[in-house]
Amino acid sequence: TRTFWVGGNWKMNGTTAAIKDLVNTFNAGSTASDVEVVIGAPYVYIPLLADSLRKDWAVAGENCYVKPSGAFTGEISPEMLADVGAKWVILGHSERRNVIGESSEFTAQKVVKALEAGLKVVLCVGELLEEREAGTTQTVVNSQLDAVIKTIKEADWVNIVIAYEPVWAIGTGKVATPDQAQEVHAAIREYLKIAVSSKVAEETRITYGGSVNGKNCKETAQKPDVDGFLVGGASLKPEFIDIVNATQ
Ligand code: 13P
Repeated sequence: TRTFWVGGNWKMNGTTAAIKDLVNTFNAGSTASDVEVVIGAPYVYIPLLADSLRKDWAVAGENCYVKPSGAFTGEISPEMLADVGAKWVILGHSERRNVIGESSEFTAQKVVKALEAGLKVVLCVGELLEEREAGTTQTVVNSQLDAVIKTIKEADWVNIVIAYEPVWAIGTGKVATPDQAQEVHAAIREYLKIAVSSKVAEETRITYGGSVNGKNCKETAQKPDVDGFLVGGASLKPEFIDIVNATQ
């Protein structure tokens, strides 16, 4: 069985003072023991978070580069993330793909390098509104997955959590319905079965992201192929604890 997984993605938000407050709230929150929780923070706040966050939760970077060190001004390596206490990295987020312009192939290279550095990976996939309306959701998602499937080994999948984040649902308040999420998650699992293996399909956590909040999480959490959430805006608020407890 797949342990329920809930991630926060703070994106480019936070100040030292606000993060200290939020960490105090999270550390005092009572949460189910059978949930894995990870918080993604801007690079500069990772040491603070790694030092102060409750030890049953882990810290993630929100991106990384594909080299361990060198003349790559402004970039951060997966080795550096690990060095300052991150256990995970979020890769292929829609804002990296669509705002910064990163390709699926570049994302796949990052996945390889992050895994080599000993980090676990949250691999984000998801379609644009026009792609959904054109009926190409699964083609788009499968091709985003394919770049990674081609690049890593079957055994690497134990260190990957997939986040299905339809771009039209991110930060819009337009959450996918529980059935919409379930439909895509089931199709992703089927695709993993065909393209990787039954074992990987059965064991890989597939989480949902896009306008998840403390209220709408409960019903979606009950869907058989929804194994958790990746939460943006609501992960900056005390209500994140309610999402961690979505299955309770
Ligand atoms: P929101 O929860 O703010 O819609 O963001 C989702 C997301 O992009 C998480 O990675």
